[in-house]
Amino acid sequence: MDENRTELDQLGEFGLIDKLTSDFRTKLPSTLKGIGDDAAVIEISETEAMLVSTDMLVEGVHFNLMYMPLLHLGYKSVVVNISDIIAMNATPEQITVSIAVSSKFPVEALEELYSGIKKACEFYNVDLIGGDTTSSYAGLTISITAIGRAKKEDIVYRSGAKEFDLLVVTGDLGAAYIGLQVLEREKEVFQANPEIQPDLEGHDYVIERQLKPEARKDVLGFLKELDVKPTSMIDISDGLASEILHLCKASKVGCHIYDEKIPIDAKTSMTALDFNLDPGTCALNGGEDYELLFTVDQKDFEKVQANPNMSIIGHITNENDGNYFIDKNGSAIELKAQGWNHF
Ligand code: ADP
Ligand code: MG
Repeated sequence: MDENRTELDQLGEFGLIDKLTSDFRTKLPSTLKGIGDDAAVIEISETEAMLVSTDMLVEGVHFNLMYMPLLHLGYKSVVVNISDIIAMNATPEQITVSIAVSSKFPVEALEELYSGIKKACEFYNVDLIGGDTTSSYAGLTISITAIGRAKKEDIVYRSGAKEFDLLVVTGDLGAAYIGLQVLEREKEVFQANPEIQPDLEGHDYVIERQLKPEARKDVLGFLKELDVKPTSMIDISDGLASEILHLCKASKVGCHIYDEKIPIDAKTSMTALDFNLDPGTCALNGGEDYELLFTVDQKDFEKVQANPNMSIIGHITNENDGNYFIDKNGSAIELKAQGWNHF
């Protein structure tokens, strides 16, 4: 065992998933898609499929209760899960919630968590249908499974992008990461001197993006109205660069994206500069925005360009051309994922 020891950080999250799962082949005809997309796809009838996705949130790794109110944590845990169902162009319908909880939490705290879960269930019209409850030695872990439904023909996978397709993102990027920087800074100030009240003024937008993200269910409606079916799609949980690379790898294509086309809110840019951070880098590598990244055929250019919720940030190229970020001076820089690596 000892002479063969591989440290987890040598592989990283995605390397580890690959290593553990590469020997598994799906064998049932009802398993339309197993590992490798935002959600698994299971056939339920000739025309319909069920989608399943699961995510775990661990105290100290994914959230810090010093600045994350439990109400928000409950809401956000549901959002991050159903975002993966939405990223398949499907409708989330049910969730299960499992918690491992240490004795440091009173019942009232967990009730607060569940009121956040309830708010999200109401807003996104999903039912809580089960879960599991257990004790833990340290802190709180929340694991949620989201179940959705779609017509088979409507499902959008990561793997459908074709050369010359346009790359599109929704909303704006980088704000959740900047919100986290503000909260971390104020936490440190507070820890150094509890007399000083946190100074969050003027940072409402970025803090809200961190503490209360929304899944872009509305975008599925816009796409339907425009009669546009993306050729591929993924949700942006780990940072734009990392998600583009996932999408390009799954689709066996390359891409060019343009720095000046990446949507960043002015409030995000201003605060990033206060922190001596490059706003573009925050958008590329920040994470937790829960926006959608998708590709569309060139014929849909005008429809997408006219929609204020969508920004065309680049296009798909041949796989052999690689993945490039074109900066404001026109220099091409190879895209590298620097998303979260919890190990
Ligand atoms: P996302 O960021 O969209 O939630 P992940 O990066 O967590 O997706 O997961 C990528 C794929 O690997 C998904 O299909 C997921 O179900 C699968 N996966 C992740 N961890 C495991 C695991 N421990 N065992 C089996 N499959 C896993
Ligand atoms: Mg995802």
